Amino acid sequence: MSTGILVLVEHLRGAVADITFEMLGAARKLSEALKGPVHAVVLGRDGAGLAARLGAADSVLVVDDPALEQPSADAAIGVLQQIMAQKQAALVLLGGTNVSFGLGARLSARTQLPFVNFCKGARVEGDALVLTSQLFGGKILSDVKLAGARGIVSVYPGAFPADPGRSDRTPPVEKLAVPVPAAKVIFQQFVEPETGDVDITKQTVLVAVGRGIQSADNIQLAEELARKLGGAVCASRPVIDQGWLPLSRQVGKSGMSVKPRVYLAFGISGAPEHWDGMQNSECIIAVNTDPKAPIFDGAHYGVVGDAVELLPLLTEKIQARKG
Ligand SMILES: Cc1cc2nc3c(=O)[nH]c(=O)nc-3n(C[C@H](O)[C@H](O)[C@H](O)COP(=O)(O)OP(=O)(O)OC[C@H]3O[C@@H](n4cnc5c(N)ncnc54)[C@H](O)[C@@H]3O)c2cc1C
Repeated sequence: MSTGILVLVEHLRGAVADITFEMLGAARKLSEALKGPVHAVVLGRDGAGLAARLGAADSVLVVDDPALEQPSADAAIGVLQQIMAQKQAALVLLGGTNVSFGLGARLSARTQLPFVNFCKGARVEGDALVLTSQLFGGKILSDVKLAGARGIVSVYPGAFPADPGRSDRTPPVEKLAVPVPAAKVIFQQFVEPETGDVDITKQTVLVAVGRGIQSADNIQLAEELARKLGGAVCASRPVIDQGWLPLSRQVGKSGMSVKPRVYLAFGISGAPEHWDGMQNSECIIAVNTDPKAPIFDGAHYGVVGDAVELLPLLTEKIQARKG
């Protein structure tokens, strides 16, 4: 039985994304029980240059091809399938991110291996791998068993700690000569976020506003509080859909996943699609006029009150405290 684990490295412009370290850490732990190697797979130009950051893997497999320079699902799936065969790897970890989403189901169809999506936990039982998968936007957690630990797994961002996947060691690099299949969907261009806008995934404090903020004019109340707290403003989808804030500020299933130290949610009901993107925040404080709002089920602190009234009061209090 083959037990090697492939981890698809997510990288952009020389930076390795956190999800890679989260997957490497999880793979490292599983490999102790499965007794097989962990291979980090880097697709694209200058993959070997990233190896120094991938020391948690036993080896780094690089496919250096101009066709992989930009994201291409067709090419990635074809290449991964060939690497699985070459290395006799039966378990593949992919990031459940905007970059890798969609690869898993297609790779599973090609290889006839089972696919587990939204994986938030993993343990080995005998020769099987038991994965905890999130269903219905987080309402249900389901344990599924992969016989022989064989399958394709999409790992939920933030579900596993990143630190165990980081190491100073430089693992051996192997360049693979794998034919890259022609892509049917051709990458055209990166669309950058609006210039000057903040990256909400990097903030330690987020002041989030939902439909309960009532009007575009009230967004500035949240901006003022965020400024005093050294954070930034983000929002639920209705606020973005109305054009009150740019898309780069949207939190949730079809927006960004954030994990600040403090997430202040003003006038947000806590729909699963929003919860999905902010549930890993260290401390969630919710303000809502409806005591039965679902966000109170998961928030660490809750205030039943009017966001529009509370926002300036909070800003004032913080200003007074700071002198
Ligand atoms: C495929 C799909 C993807 C989606 N992706 C996302 C996503 O990425 N992000 C996202 O956010 N949503 C997403 N949604 C939409 C999601 O289902 C919800 O509709 C949305 O999150 C609701 O936003 P909200 O909480 O701001 O609004 P509402 O659900 O309308 O809630 C407004 C809340 O404000 C409270 N309120 C009203 N007035 C006040 C006041 N003065 N002070 C305080 N509280 C007040 C109300 O009690 C209510 O709880 C998605 C939906 C689908 C189908």
